[in-house]
Amino acid sequence: MSRCGAGPRGGHTGGGFPSRPTRGRKWAAGVRMAHPPRTHPGGRPSSHPGGQSDGRHDGQPASHPGGHPGGHPGGDGLLPDGGRRLQLLAWETTQACTLACPHCRADACPSRPAGELTTDEGRRLLAEAARVGPGIIILSGGEPLLRDDLEDLAVAGTAAGHTVVVATNDGLLLTRERIASLQRAGVRRYSFSVHFPDEEGQDEFTARPGTMRATREAFARLREAGVGFQINTTVMRGNAERLEEIRRLVVDLGAAAWHLFFVVPTGRASTPPRSAPLTDAEIEKVLRWAAGIEASAGLPMKVTCAPQYARIKAEMGLKNTQRGRGCMAGDGFAFVSSMGEVKPCGYFDLSVGNVRQTPFDVIYREAPVFRDLRQPDRLEGGCGACAFRKVCGGCRARSLAVSGHYLGDDPHCTYPASQQKK
Ligand code: SF4
Ligand code: SF4
Repeated sequence: MSRCGAGPRGGHTGGGFPSRPTRGRKWAAGVRMAHPPRTHPGGRPSSHPGGQSDGRHDGQPASHPGGHPGGHPGGDGLLPDGGRRLQLLAWETTQACTLACPHCRADACPSRPAGELTTDEGRRLLAEAARVGPGIIILSGGEPLLRDDLEDLAVAGTAAGHTVVVATNDGLLLTRERIASLQRAGVRRYSFSVHFPDEEGQDEFTARPGTMRATREAFARLREAGVGFQINTTVMRGNAERLEEIRRLVVDLGAAAWHLFFVVPTGRASTPPRSAPLTDAEIEKVLRWAAGIEASAGLPMKVTCAPQYARIKAEMGLKNTQRGRGCMAGDGFAFVSSMGEVKPCGYFDLSVGNVRQTPFDVIYREAPVFRDLRQPDRLEGGCGACAFRKVCGGCRARSLAVSGHYLGDDPHCTYPASQQKK
């Protein structure tokens, strides 16, 4: 059932932060006292918001949400506990969207629900994020272009030292005027979702005729303005056999990068009609294909939310081109929902605090869940015993979604759980 407009979303909270008025040492004390048990404290909601993550820091927006430009400008890149400073923040600026994709983790709806973060709250979030960054801010949704204050937010993000990118859906709302005003506000790049190589497939998937045409027209406007864009494709049943076709299209369209995403069973994707996830063996096959063509793909290519890609590349004798682990949820990457709930990533159905009660930088530094995710040695089950846990780490959101425990097995990995630690 959709929770659109039904008030604060984001799952239950796992943080226990005190409220915003008091700051300083009391925050940390409150956090320590609230440290949750290792096992997921139960009761996931049936739907959730979400962002997306990318986990790497390469200069492009990630999925709709997501992505990230540039080199990291934040000091030595480490927090006092050894975790990474914020490199990438996906902020779901609104749950509203003009499309109705079946795999939507945001469970998006046609109009903006009451209670989304205001312009001032957004400005404050961006300033707080700079204290643990700055990084790349993905203004995401839903469809972020439905917010008429997007320019104000981009200005605030840029002034705070961040690199601001926008994750739009099909670009229909990205008029020449909007491109120009967002460019003046500091937006550096856009990401789009294209899941099929043809109009028929794409339009049927998004449930709106003309989606693919709108996207192509938006690309033309961006090329005209000299603004870069990235294309994201979610791999699922129905397009897994067409990835080479999509790759050729993405190159022909002049995209700056192509990111492959894999379905996480949250939001509308928890009961997918058309975006049925692949089997573990099929995912492994796609990842091996991607690893084989990545170096000669014709543009920068990334695999997102299939952290075992690092393990597969190692097994194939290929160089690991990513920084850090395959998943950076909570360790360089964070997500903020339209209602202010903070999570390690948009697919991770557990809020660790709300920026309305606690400054974002305090949550990012201190949330017990984030601290757990920064320590691969806290992993359990097959991932905890795996020789690749430090370069892969498994998908924590899938572990949580399937077992209710965020430090357990990645349910989609085919690697034997009995591997010895190195
Ligand atoms: S936890 Fe899973 S879905 Fe979230 S960023 Fe990591 S790999 Fe992606
Ligand atoms: S067992 Fe876990 S850590 Fe090892 S490769 Fe698979 S997902 Fe990655």
